Amino acid sequence: MECTCSCGATSFQTLGEPVFRFYCHCTLCQRFYDAPFGDILVYRAEDVVLPPPEAVIFDTYRPPPNVQRGKCATCGQPAVTVFAARFLPRLVTVPRPMFTPDAELPSPEAHGFYDMRISDARDELPKYEGYFRNQIAFLKHLWLARRSSTKPQRETSLDER
Ligand SMILES: [Zn+2]
Ligand SMILES: [Zn+2]
Repeated sequence: MECTCSCGATSFQTLGEPVFRFYCHCTLCQRFYDAPFGDILVYRAEDVVLPPPEAVIFDTYRPPPNVQRGKCATCGQPAVTVFAARFLPRLVTVPRPMFTPDAELPSPEAHGFYDMRISDARDELPKYEGYFRNQIAFLKHLWLARRSSTKPQRETSLDER
């Protein structure tokens, strides 16, 4: 799938299915996305062809976890985030606005870092509070996504992994 920022200077591709999608209410996401929360698709790193380094300005904000958050160098739109935490598989996240409005994407599965929220969410999705619980939930979603890679609605190349 094509990912493109609003100015078009940053564009890249995702090759495989996202592992999952969630809303992140953490304060770093609030800053990075300049919004109450981020709407984030999580991919295995090997399933994303990262944009050329000159297109994106990366900022680490604050470890841990070691997360590189990249904005388009031209328009400043949040474009891509690279996780390099030791206890997780290498992951890349892409914010929902980088996809076209009609892109076929999974629905968000949860609210992360809900205790840091600016506004309440009116839905039935699970809401995780606290750093530790969020880590556990994140790993659980990764694990569940890996096991349910035989979703009927779409072909997937993840089955053999
Ligand atoms: Zn966050
Ligand atoms: Zn741009």
